[in-house]
Amino acid sequence: MTAVTAFLYTDSYLKYQFGPAHPFQPIREKNSLDLLQELHVFNGKAQHLEPPPAMKEDLLTVHTKEYVDFVERMCNEGRGYLDSGDTPATKNLYGGALSVVGGSLLGAKLVLDGEVDHAFNPGGGLHHAKADRASGFCVFNDIAVAIRFLQKNYGLKRIVVIDIDGHHGDGTQELFYDEPILTISTHRTGIFPGTGYVDEIGVGNGKGYSVNIPLPEGTFHEAYIHAFKEIVPPLVEAYEPEIVISQFGVDGHYLDPLVGLALTTKTYEEVSRIIHDLSHSFAGGKLLVVGGGGYNVQMVARCWAIMFATISQALPVESEERYNHLFDRDFPVREKRVFDRVEATVNRLKERVFPLHDLDS
Ligand SMILES: [Zn+2]
Ligand SMILES: [Zn+2]
Repeated sequence: MTAVTAFLYTDSYLKYQFGPAHPFQPIREKNSLDLLQELHVFNGKAQHLEPPPAMKEDLLTVHTKEYVDFVERMCNEGRGYLDSGDTPATKNLYGGALSVVGGSLLGAKLVLDGEVDHAFNPGGGLHHAKADRASGFCVFNDIAVAIRFLQKNYGLKRIVVIDIDGHHGDGTQELFYDEPILTISTHRTGIFPGTGYVDEIGVGNGKGYSVNIPLPEGTFHEAYIHAFKEIVPPLVEAYEPEIVISQFGVDGHYLDPLVGLALTTKTYEEVSRIIHDLSHSFAGGKLLVVGGGGYNVQMVARCWAIMFATISQALPVESEERYNHLFDRDFPVREKRVFDRVEATVNRLKERVFPLHDLDS
């Protein structure tokens, strides 16, 4: 079967939760599925599949045994924190974490086997998790586990991760810092986790393959799209990836309570279109999208429904009016000085990174 996009979700994802008062609420994933069902996208061009959980061995391709055992033990007890205070150990969290990693693994497998063109795992995108520690609501790094799976089982060598979350994808960067896996992250600068500067470009065989686009507070649609288009497509074209993986955290939206960027539903539609086009132009259409941040539950469902409709092209004509209602009704302020700061970052990045890929700065 080709030209099909899979939406990977099972109710086990709801076990990946930190309590009712915590910003991270997995119901946003179910809400996204519900919204897409109301839009009748699961009509042959798109399908909903329930992934099985990952196995402990899958986690060990990325994480230390000591850390995995620690998470399992802490979650069985159901109290305390897995990091310094952002990521509580709740009952059933370990099982939920295996489930969301399972979604990214199934997505990677389906795409490489040619069962689907594209796959989206809204439970994944846990980009802050490191080899031996949790961080920022992320327990296991499903992106890294999927990359190790693709390297081991399909012999892939050239994998690009385009991480658009409002926070720096520091866990993913750290795990591949000395390898030629191209990790590109756009994020607000100066907030958690405090990394993701232009000068972090990788080391050894990984030099030039970590790319960071740090953005100031208030970065809005036009400034973001400008930076994205100037940096991401030329690098992806030069890299010639075998698959595109996109971490699609939507906490850069102006309604998000944690980040302070000023992106809109239109930004996410346009970025979806660009990433989808890049996958077809340079990676044979192989595209795996995973979720990520997003702390205004209704906003997240709208953004992810827009992204999924865009990459699947499965929206029936009769749903178009309903689809148009998913877009923002008002817009954040656009300040020229913010655009100028973004432009300066773009120019520094081109000077620093483009020559390493034989691109003109
Ligand atoms: Zn985030
Ligand atoms: Zn496509």
